[in-house]
Amino acid sequence: MSKRLKLAGLSASRTLRSGKTFVNADSSEKTSPYFGDEEKRLARTSTKKHVLIKIKHEMVENETNIKETPIKSEDVELSTDVQDIKTEECEIKNENVEFKLDPKNVEDKKQWMPPNWETILENIKEMRKSETAPVDTMGCHKCTDPDASPVVSRYQALVALMLSSQTKDQVTHAAMQRLNTYGCKPNIIATTSDDDLGKLIYPVGFWKKKVKYIKKTSVILLDKYGGDIPKTVKELCELPGVGPKMAHLCMRTAWGEVSGIGVDTHVHRIANRLGWVKKSTKTPEQTRNELEDWLPKPLWSEVNHLLVGFGQETCLPRFPKCSECLNKDICSFASKGGRTKK
Ligand code: SF4
Repeated sequence: MSKRLKLAGLSASRTLRSGKTFVNADSSEKTSPYFGDEEKRLARTSTKKHVLIKIKHEMVENETNIKETPIKSEDVELSTDVQDIKTEECEIKNENVEFKLDPKNVEDKKQWMPPNWETILENIKEMRKSETAPVDTMGCHKCTDPDASPVVSRYQALVALMLSSQTKDQVTHAAMQRLNTYGCKPNIIATTSDDDLGKLIYPVGFWKKKVKYIKKTSVILLDKYGGDIPKTVKELCELPGVGPKMAHLCMRTAWGEVSGIGVDTHVHRIANRLGWVKKSTKTPEQTRNELEDWLPKPLWSEVNHLLVGFGQETCLPRFPKCSECLNKDICSFASKGGRTKK
C-alpha cells in the first residue's frame, strides 16, 4: 500500500473515531494536498457507508415500529375478528339448524293435517252459530256466581268442572246452582259433612267419589294456595279427581289461559269420525296429543266448545244426524257408511 493511501486511511479512520462531521471530512479532502481521486472516492465511500448505516438504523427503527406495535395490535384485532367470524359461523350454523328444523316441523304438520279440515270447521261453526246446545247455556263457564270475587269464581269453575265429568250439562248446572246458593267457597265446603254435600250435588255422575274429591281439594286449596286455585296444569293435576282434560279446561275457564286442548268424550269421538287423528285413538289423552300436533294454536281455545255443542246436537254418540250435517259429503265416517240417524 502506498504511503499516500496509508495516510488517507489513517485520516479517514481518525475522522470516524473523532466523530467529525462529513463536512470536516470534505474539508480535509479539500484542504489536504494528499487527497487525490482515490482518497476522494474512499472518503465518499466512508461517507456513503456512514449514511447507509444511518439509513439502515432508521429503517430498522421503522421496521420495528411497523412490525412490532401496529401489526401486533392489528393481529390482536384480527384475532378478535376471527373470533367474531367464528361466532358468526356458529350463529349461521345455529340458524341453519333452525332452518332445517322449522320446515321439517311445518312439513310434518302439513303432512298430518287432515283433508278439508278448514272447510269442516267452518261448517261446524255454521251449524253452531245459533248457540242452542246445552253447553252454550249451561256449560261450566255458565256455572259460576256472577257476583263472586275472582278467587271464589275460580274455585266455583273448578268445582263445576269436577262435577261435569260423566255428567250432562243440565245436571251439572243445576247442582252448581244449589251449591252457589248454599255457599260454594272452599272454607264452607271443607267443613260441610259428606252427607250434606252429597245431597247438594246428587245426581251428578259418581257423586259419592266427587264428594270426597271436592272436600279434599278444598282443604288443599286452603292450606297450599290461600283458598285460590293453582295456575299450572301440573299443579291442577295434583288435585284429587283432576286430570289433564279438566286442568286444560280450568286454565281456560278460570285463568283465561290456553294451555292445551280440552278433549272430552265428544271431542274424542268427533275427532276420530272426522279423521282428525292420523290413526284412530283409544283415549281422549291420545286424541289431545294428535290434535295439538296439527291444529293451529289460535283454534285450541274454541275447538272444545265448538265440538262439544256439535256433539250434543248433531254428531250424536250413537246415531249422528249425518243427513242434516253440512259435512256429510266430506266426512270420512259418513262416506264409510257409519251408523247414522235417518
Ligand atoms: S257427517 Fe255425520 S259423522 Fe260426520 S261430522 Fe257430520 S254428523 Fe258427524
